Amino acid sequence: MSEKEITTRQNLHFDELWAYDPAPESPDYVKIEEKYDLFIDGRFQEPESGRYLRTVNPSNETVLAQVAEAGKKDVDKAVTAARKAYDGAWSKMAAKERGKYLFRIARLLQERAREFAIIESMDCGKPIRESRDIDIPQVIAHFFYHAGWADKLEYAFPGYRPRPLGVAGQIIPWNFPLLMAAWKIAPALAAGNTVVIKPAETTPLTALKLAELIRDAGLPPGVVNIVTGAGQTGIEIVNHPGIDKLAFTGSTEVGKLIQKAVAGTDKKYTLELGGKAANIVFDDAPVEQAVEGIVNGIFFNQGHVCCAGSRLLVQEGVADELVYKLKMRMESLIVGDPLDKNTDIGAINSKDQLDRILGFLAEGVEGDQKIYQSKCDLPEKGYWCRPTLVENVSQSHRIVQEEVFGPVLSIQTFRTPAEAVTLANNSPYGLSGGVWTDKGSKIFKIGKGIRAGVIWANTFNKFDPTSPFGGYKESGIGREGGIHGLLPYLELSQ
Ligand code: NAP
Ligand code: MG
Repeated sequence: MSEKEITTRQNLHFDELWAYDPAPESPDYVKIEEKYDLFIDGRFQEPESGRYLRTVNPSNETVLAQVAEAGKKDVDKAVTAARKAYDGAWSKMAAKERGKYLFRIARLLQERAREFAIIESMDCGKPIRESRDIDIPQVIAHFFYHAGWADKLEYAFPGYRPRPLGVAGQIIPWNFPLLMAAWKIAPALAAGNTVVIKPAETTPLTALKLAELIRDAGLPPGVVNIVTGAGQTGIEIVNHPGIDKLAFTGSTEVGKLIQKAVAGTDKKYTLELGGKAANIVFDDAPVEQAVEGIVNGIFFNQGHVCCAGSRLLVQEGVADELVYKLKMRMESLIVGDPLDKNTDIGAINSKDQLDRILGFLAEGVEGDQKIYQSKCDLPEKGYWCRPTLVENVSQSHRIVQEEVFGPVLSIQTFRTPAEAVTLANNSPYGLSGGVWTDKGSKIFKIGKGIRAGVIWANTFNKFDPTSPFGGYKESGIGREGGIHGLLPYLELSQ
């Protein structure tokens, strides 16, 4: 199909058939303070430096709140409080009681789910449909799941005596702010550790709301400490001698710095880093279903997903049909107000990230590569990127090798299953991958061949607290979720 035909159908699609009236969630429902302090030892405390950073709503560039910047002394206070709580109330408490706190946090989150979803969408830019239907339900599921493990750890590791490590230092990114906090806090507490956690500078609000909720849940002071700030606050956590275990999610670049910093110390660590997943579509796959999976894999959440299916590999026989249908689907995606229930793609999380994506599209697209972007309107204020397809790419191009972390998809074709596996594995990353085919045997063969921590078959980006998640190669070390995710927070003796 020619581009002209797509444009004609797009106009018909939007102007006559698929125009929606706005249906925004009301932010009046939530209360965001003007200023937030650090949550240390069970109460909010001013930072020693008196310095605060601003957090912004990326969909309209308004300042949502001033948030404390934790320095070396604040991090030290937090680690000291976590150690005191670990040596005191937390390790003396029966495991069954520890589990009850996690259940209580999960139930309080259930009661306040709508409020958390709205704040997440305002601070992060992700569509409310996603924060309401994916992030917050997953957060709750993580606390429930790990609550159940607290008094059953010896059954998880039969023949061993599991013991907590002590104080966990945790650093998380901005793409799934509360979900990453849950992935970190829930297993650490279930295993009997205490926590000092740092949210990302641009998305601290749901973590600070969680601090209020943790206080309301009556958790002993110091068990969870939440220190906001920027990269330097993360460095202070990494270098603090009182930290027993580090858990980091973010870029491969910072992950490598952390590895160097802990080398030669007895700190344990897990790293969840970048990805460049191949989503492989065979010619026997249900094409419409695959198109939905591709869209879900790269365009939803603005492509701000480490396991995003950012490389599409299509078998030659179905390539033309699939690319045409994908372009049609892209034209129907609604980019705009994250609080609107009809929105498919929200705001890019920060100006820096938008510049990075646009810079990539300007400089990273080489030779005769072709960019296709949907023609949707974009709001005037805020940070936005249209869903983007890059065609005519080859394996050595930057767009295929590097993580863009935006709604940008590259397309390559292949002939044989072996070629698909070779292309998929030709990457420094190994976090996730997808296979679309009618044949179960092909799913197993390809799934085994791809060197990545998670492989989805005829679906994409599905999560569950019971399944381990994590990468090979430069995508990280260790697993989160399931029994595998409890292990890095425990010491096993016989
Ligand atoms: P990042 O710079 O690695 O940040 C992740 C977390 O580490 C943030 O809390 C960050 O603080 C903190 N941090 C920054 N520098 C640090 C340092 N030297 N030592 C300790 N902590 C430090 O990642 P980002 O800026 O959020 O995103 C950049 C890239 O990371 C993306 O383009 C993508 O490639 C990757 N990423 C991967 C994932 C994933 O889940 N695997 C998630 C998000 C991003 P501040 O943010 O407050 O500066
Ligand atoms: Mg923000």
